[in-house]
Amino acid sequence: MSIYSGPVFEMAAQQFGVIADYLEISLDERPRLLLPKRAVTVACPIRRDDGTIAVFEGYRVQHHLTLGPTKGGTRFAANVDLGEVSALAVWMSWKCAVTGLPYGGAKGGIRVDTKTLSRRELEMMSRRYMQELIPFVGPHVDVMAPDMGTDEQVMAWFMDTYSMHQGRTVTEIVTGKPVSAGGTLGRREATGRGVAHLALRVMKDRQIKESGATAVVQGFGNVGSIAALELYNAGVRIIAVSDHTGALHRPAGLDVPTLIAHRAKHGSIAGFSNELALDPDDLLTLPCDVLVPAAVEQVIDAKVADHLRCRVLAEGANGPTTPDADLVLQRRRDEIFVIPDIICNAGGVVVSYFEWVQDLAQFFWGEDEVMRRQYQILDAAFTKMVDRAKRDNVYNRTAAMAAGVERVRDAKNTRGLFP
Ligand code: NAD
Repeated sequence: MSIYSGPVFEMAAQQFGVIADYLEISLDERPRLLLPKRAVTVACPIRRDDGTIAVFEGYRVQHHLTLGPTKGGTRFAANVDLGEVSALAVWMSWKCAVTGLPYGGAKGGIRVDTKTLSRRELEMMSRRYMQELIPFVGPHVDVMAPDMGTDEQVMAWFMDTYSMHQGRTVTEIVTGKPVSAGGTLGRREATGRGVAHLALRVMKDRQIKESGATAVVQGFGNVGSIAALELYNAGVRIIAVSDHTGALHRPAGLDVPTLIAHRAKHGSIAGFSNELALDPDDLLTLPCDVLVPAAVEQVIDAKVADHLRCRVLAEGANGPTTPDADLVLQRRRDEIFVIPDIICNAGGVVVSYFEWVQDLAQFFWGEDEVMRRQYQILDAAFTKMVDRAKRDNVYNRTAAMAAGVERVRDAKNTRGLFP
């Protein structure tokens, strides 16, 4: 048994196995590509508001350092474990590689239900986590970003903690910061915008008109709400959304800007409307043109995949589709076009890369330039995937992941095996 054991890492390993078979990678070479280079566990003690001490378990996994520093988000969630964080780091590697970024993948997290923390406690825990990781990160070693449960404010605390330790401001240590603290324009919106951009591109290819088209979005956080808003602004009817508190369904289309304002005020979609409530278990299988899972992993298993009634599956979340479900979707590929996570949600890391570049250069771009360059990179990766899928008659995820794995493998082989 490996320390990475767990259902999510097993899923990442299983997906890698499919790609390794397709690329005919020898058995002895596979662990070098799959196993994380470093995994750090830290204990983060804080004093709680009532005077007691609480200790939170944190992780940081750096998958490979072959192409440059590692890059990846930080997740604060109650079920975070080393296996999940490692799987997310592996997926980040293929994502950075397929989009041509000079990074390996990383991911980190703390096992915590942030709803149980006051704002002061959240700040103490965030700062202590970064402080514990200072020996293992750096602008040219490992650069953090937000993920589920973390936001711009947490990134600002990370940056400030690191900078205090260095005795100077080091904005390039994290991305996803507020613009006022060295962040880039367009980062907060980047992932959702990318998801919507690619979904609209597939709709166009399949001659699905925006007016008259419908979308369903699972998860209404950073990624889900922006993807919903971009699709809504393009004329698509958002007929259902959900978050951890429940789901809403309105066949005539939800008023997305008002729902976003409600979430900003109340923290979730709860209380928006009782009449529109839907059983969240029914959300994913609603008939729609575009389905955007933008919450957690493994929500589409083989049974759900069999019952999906969408025409485009735009994976906003990381790892929403299990390998069993992939077998079903591969079979249904004439009916459902899958935009796999490592391309669909790559807008976030692409614009994080722009933020890092701008921080290193201390030269900042306008939002239009950020968006133009982001779409250019996403479109190129998407085209590469589609061409390869067609050429080799393989599933989109296989084509996308293979391009990522191939780039990492080529770099490792060209550099050689040290010593
Ligand atoms: P977030 O914390 O801003 O939002 C998460 C949303 O999911 C919240 O609305 C939450 O209520 C909801 N949710 C949680 N559990 C749920 C469940 N079981 N059913 C329905 N909804 C549920 O997080 P985010 O940054 O939007 O990330 C969402 C997903 O996108 C994650 O898989 C993350 O790894 C991935 N992702 C995020 C980024 C980014 O830039 N933020 C980039 C790439 C991928």
